[in-house]
Amino acid sequence: MNKIIFIIFILIFSINLQSKVKALNIIEVADGVFVHQGEHFDVDDTYQGDIANIGFIIGTNSVAVIDSGGSTTVGMSLKASIREKTSLPIKFVINTHVHLDHIYGNSAFTEKDVEFIGHSELPRAMELRKELYQRLNLEYLNIPIEESIQVSPSIFIKVNESKIFDLGERKIKISAYPSAHTNNDITIEDLKTGTLWAGDLLFIERTPVVDGDIHGIINVINQLISLDVNLVIPGHGTPTKNWRKAFEKHRNYFITLRDGVRRAISEDIGLQKAIETVAQSESKKWELFDIQNARNINQVYPQLEWE
Ligand SMILES: [Zn+2]
Repeated sequence: MNKIIFIIFILIFSINLQSKVKALNIIEVADGVFVHQGEHFDVDDTYQGDIANIGFIIGTNSVAVIDSGGSTTVGMSLKASIREKTSLPIKFVINTHVHLDHIYGNSAFTEKDVEFIGHSELPRAMELRKELYQRLNLEYLNIPIEESIQVSPSIFIKVNESKIFDLGERKIKISAYPSAHTNNDITIEDLKTGTLWAGDLLFIERTPVVDGDIHGIINVINQLISLDVNLVIPGHGTPTKNWRKAFEKHRNYFITLRDGVRRAISEDIGLQKAIETVAQSESKKWELFDIQNARNINQVYPQLEWE
C-alpha cells in the first residue's frame, strides 16, 4: 500500500516538474520556419530573459535552432515548442551574436550530437562578457552565478565567409560579417523559403543598437538590402515581407546618429550634450528610445572622435 502511495507521489511530482516547462508562443512565418517573438523590455528591472526573437527551422531529417533566448528556462520552453511540432533530432543551435538575450538558452540543448554554430569571434566575445552577464543574470533573473552557463560554438563561420548546412531537403546558408552590431554577427538564410534571419542586424519597432562599429552597420545594411529574399526575421520586432523598407528605416537611424555625433564632435559640445541632442528627430519612431540612443551615442562618440 505504502509503495503505491509512493509511486503516485512520484508521478504527481514528475508531472508537476514537467508542467513547469511551458512551450512558447510560436508562429510559422514560412513553411517549416517558426519564430517566437520576444517582448520589448530593456535589460533592467523589467527583464525576464525573453526579449529577443528566437526560433527554429525544420528539415526532413533534423532541426536547426536559431538563438536560444536569455536563460536555460527560455531555452527549455523553446525546446518544448519544438517537440510540439516535430520529434526530429535537433542538429544545430546557431547564435546570431553574443548578446545575453540570444545565447543563455544554449544550455538547454547540450545533448550529444548537437553542434553549436557561431561567428569565429563569438567564443572570445562570450569570454569577455562572461562576468558582466553573470552579474546581470543574477540581478534581474535571480540565476546563481554558477548556473549562468555559456555554451560556445563548435563550428565557426569566419568574417566574409558563408557555409551551407543541410537539414534534409532544406539547405541553410550562414554568413559572417565584419564588426557591425557586434564584432560577431551572422545571418541565416533558409534557401527553401527565402527567409533571412537577420539577428540584430535589423531591429523593428525597438531602437536599433550599435555595440560594434557604426560604419560596419551601415555597410552591412547596404549589403543585406540587396539580397533576394521573401521575408526577414529581425532580432527584435515583427518579421516582415516589407523588409527593404525596414532596413531603410534602420539605416536612416544610424546615418542620423553618425552625422549627429560627427557634428557634435566638430562643434565640440561634449559627450553629455551630444547625448541630449543627437538623433532626437528619430525619437518618436522607436520604442525604448531615450536609454538606447544614449548608449549608442556613448559607443559611437569615441569611435568618431578619432577618425
Ligand atoms: Zn544584440
